[in-house]
Amino acid sequence: MANRPRRSRLTQTFAVPDKDDTYDDASIALLDDTGTAEDTDNTSLIDINERIVAFLNDADTQSQSTVPLTPLPVTSATETGAQFLKRKRGSSTPYRGLGQKDKSVWKHARARLPYEAERDDHGHQIFYCAEDNCNWKGPSSNAARHLRKHAIFVGRFSATPSTIAQANSLQQGLHSMATKHAESSHNQTVTVLRSAAQKQLFRNALARFVTACSISHKSVVSNEFKALIMAVNPEAEHVLLRSSSSLSSRIVRNFRAQQEEVIRYLCDDTISCFHISTDTWKTKHRHKHFQAVNVQFVDQNRQLIQLLLDLVDVDGEESKSRAYLATILIRTIKEYNLTTRLG
Ligand SMILES: [Zn+2]
Repeated sequence: MANRPRRSRLTQTFAVPDKDDTYDDASIALLDDTGTAEDTDNTSLIDINERIVAFLNDADTQSQSTVPLTPLPVTSATETGAQFLKRKRGSSTPYRGLGQKDKSVWKHARARLPYEAERDDHGHQIFYCAEDNCNWKGPSSNAARHLRKHAIFVGRFSATPSTIAQANSLQQGLHSMATKHAESSHNQTVTVLRSAAQKQLFRNALARFVTACSISHKSVVSNEFKALIMAVNPEAEHVLLRSSSSLSSRIVRNFRAQQEEVIRYLCDDTISCFHISTDTWKTKHRHKHFQAVNVQFVDQNRQLIQLLLDLVDVDGEESKSRAYLATILIRTIKEYNLTTRLG
């Protein structure tokens, strides 16, 4: 403020000139030539020049004092710089760097069960997904990526049009995969059940069952029998007999195939005696009549064994004649040389 009075005085000199201060061109030329001050007007001109120089010097000094050369205190500079470098907490930055931990994913984690591990091999806390029907677990660094499957956008996958579009396509892919998986697993189940029911094995066993237990052929095509089999295996419909007519021919075929085994038993001397039973039956439309001759015995392992010894075509008109049936039975016993071994 020390310069202000001198400056105001200079301003006063230039701003309001008196009548005495007016001069003509001749006086100025005289000054330039001689350089001497002869009157008060010349003196005032020299004074003005000096004052202008002094003002300019003062102005330089003043400008220098306005911008001090001494540096700012170190403390204030550090504080100013730290405000720019430091990341603001709570800033809604959509993308956080990989190195910056985002705790918001833990809001979607469930409590760890007592038998579940708390940390993995690297010492990282394990994230257990809290969403329904989800067993996902893993490091929290992968949790944000996983949560997109549940349409949850946190951390580096915060909701932006791009991440939402990615998640939508991801969910569509997962949905189609789940649908395909369900279809394939259902198809696999059907395939396993269907292949478990083997037609030939079942029908041969059915023929043995009907023969050994003297069951009516009609029963194997009844709805009740069908319901029984389907209750055991819902994919076993293909093994069922559509008509009972095929059963008798199957019984004959099975007998021929197993006759070698029967003969092997009959030639076994360790078996003391055989018991014979007969069963006469006819086909559905009474076109054919059969007499089945079963043989029962106890084998070496004390197991009761019953085998079909013979299956003889019987004349339909004679089928109710006991003498006729006895004749057929005697013929069978002789054929197999069982006369002396009957019990
Ligand atoms: Zn999940």
